[in-house]
Amino acid sequence: MAIENPSAPTRRPPTSPPGQGDRGWLLYVVLALVAAFLLGRPGPSGTQMAYSDLKAKIAAGDAAEVQLSRDKLTVIPKKAQKAGERWVAYRVEDPDLVKLIEKQGVKYSGASDGDWFTNLLMVWLLPIGVVLFFWMIMFRRMRPGAGIMSIGRSRAKLVAEEGTGITFEDVAGVDEAVDELREVVEFLRSPERFRRVGGRIPKGVLLVGPPGTGKTLLARAVAGEAKVPFFSLTGSDFVEMFVGVGAARVRDLFERAQSKAPCIVFIDELDAIGKARSGAGAFASHDEREQTLNQLLSEMDGFDARKGLIIMGATNRPEILDPALLRPGRFDRQVLVDRPDVRGREAILRVHARDVRLGPEVDLRAIAAITPGFAGAELANIINEAALLTARRGKDHVTMSEMNEAVERVVAGLEKKNRVMNPREKGIVAHHEAGHALLAEVLPTTDRVHKVSMIPRGLGALGFTMQIPLEDRYLMTRPELLDKITVLLGGRTAEQLVFGEISTGAQDDLVRATDLARRMVSQFGMSELLGPQSFAIPEGLAEGARMLRGLGLQPERGHGDRTQEIIDREVAGVLRRAEERARSILEGNREHLVRLAARLREKEVLEGTELREILAGAHAPEPAVEPGTEPQEERWEQPLPH
Ligand code: ADP
Ligand code: ZN
Ligand code: MG
Repeated sequence: MAIENPSAPTRRPPTSPPGQGDRGWLLYVVLALVAAFLLGRPGPSGTQMAYSDLKAKIAAGDAAEVQLSRDKLTVIPKKAQKAGERWVAYRVEDPDLVKLIEKQGVKYSGASDGDWFTNLLMVWLLPIGVVLFFWMIMFRRMRPGAGIMSIGRSRAKLVAEEGTGITFEDVAGVDEAVDELREVVEFLRSPERFRRVGGRIPKGVLLVGPPGTGKTLLARAVAGEAKVPFFSLTGSDFVEMFVGVGAARVRDLFERAQSKAPCIVFIDELDAIGKARSGAGAFASHDEREQTLNQLLSEMDGFDARKGLIIMGATNRPEILDPALLRPGRFDRQVLVDRPDVRGREAILRVHARDVRLGPEVDLRAIAAITPGFAGAELANIINEAALLTARRGKDHVTMSEMNEAVERVVAGLEKKNRVMNPREKGIVAHHEAGHALLAEVLPTTDRVHKVSMIPRGLGALGFTMQIPLEDRYLMTRPELLDKITVLLGGRTAEQLVFGEISTGAQDDLVRATDLARRMVSQFGMSELLGPQSFAIPEGLAEGARMLRGLGLQPERGHGDRTQEIIDREVAGVLRRAEERARSILEGNREHLVRLAARLREKEVLEGTELREILAGAHAPEPAVEPGTEPQEERWEQPLPH
């Protein structure tokens, strides 16, 4: 339950470092060396004894056979205690030995001290192996994530498809994105026509949205619709390559694509290459990515868009992209691919249910209704699970029981935040968001509501209310700040008003409201009681203060305990008054609130215009109460910092 600015970044845990798998070959090399070493060794070496003892045994006639090598004297005894018994001694300089053996009439032969393989291994391969091993380790230290083998078999495969065979029919629930991409398809189909008319030709289209919402699918659908070749590369594969290889690949990609135009070049997971370039003093390990990025930028600048080459990219972290990538002439067109609403989810389920036999009673709308926040990939997964369950149970069509179990399975595989909401929770979230939205609409200074949604977005949020500022703001006045805090507290207040209790869903709202209130009082001098003072820790000392706090120490304040007490009371006062105000406005517009919540529950997402229709006639509130002008129960004379 959050209030969002459209520009607020959606965070995602970083992808697991690539290149984990390619350490395996090293293990094989070591194992092979050890195995070869063991196998190549001569058989059991036998009972060691002193040379003189062994010679005495031969002289005594105990030897059945003798083997002589440069180093060893090996005797096979006449009366062996156990099978294969050998007596062995290291040879000494003894010219009489052979004479002695001949005198005994024993069969003797020469032998080598080990076969050529063992020698080769011990003398050459093992040391080389050891050197290689340490070299590898050092190499890895220097460039984490870079594998030596990737020179030969880079994982950044260039995938070229003549036609993807995927169309917009295969994509559902993201109609706005599809509409925007139709123009790209038109252009690819007949670039000459666009050229004649002189229309603006798209060059780079960036698909932005959470994982699993169908970005890759959409890119392939564009190629399929336009019936043009599709070249794709995945950004994360570049990360583990040698310096220069990524750039060479990008060059190669563009060369090949240009000869095939009209076509699409798709760079998936663009953020892996396109992270903002680091400044001076960067680590060596960034070199590769930066070279690749630079190459990509120069290729994008270099080609002639009129030929019909379109670059598409996909990312779920647009906020970390290098700004250079988003400049005109590069990825200047961005298409939002958002999580689907109820209707969208139903449509996606329907797309994937095409190849599955559904029983007549299966209600996909009901499944869509219990899965807010699910992306297309998860919905596809539900259908797939249901089909598997059906097959396992030997049924010939999917029934509602398999569907429900499939939902549970998919939910179990997701993080907690994506679990299915029960009806009561849905009611609470709907009223919570309606509370934010209503206040944002009726309060005089707040930004207009662009969209209210019950579809979870980001970590911990259950819904969001998106406000669009009418103009860029640099300053905020006190009434504006108070209104903002009131909106933030509105979600929780609405819950309390309608359900009589407060849920845990307002935590983030509280954090932000408290932060604003504290800054009003302690930084902006907006407390009547404390006057124009700033109690903030000066910019230059903030870092030190943070460190002290990290060590569990209290950084020294510029003011006394009593002043601190007043600051805390003032902050609490601002928040309390804002809550009161939220309550009285919501109470006065209770019908509107309930109607809005009901509509939201049904549709999950409401656009600003629809919202304003529902809220038509909601009362404007009484003017904001200026906290300072209120009678104070208790006044401190003149709280001054000591
Ligand atoms: P992304 O690239 O956004 O992470 P993908 O395009 O790889 O997501 O989606 C993975 C799979 O999920 C697709 O192959 C498709 O089967 C399914 N899917 C995702 N979004 C949709 C959608 N909007 N419509 C139909 N299927 C979808
Ligand atoms: Zn909220
Ligand atoms: Mg993808």
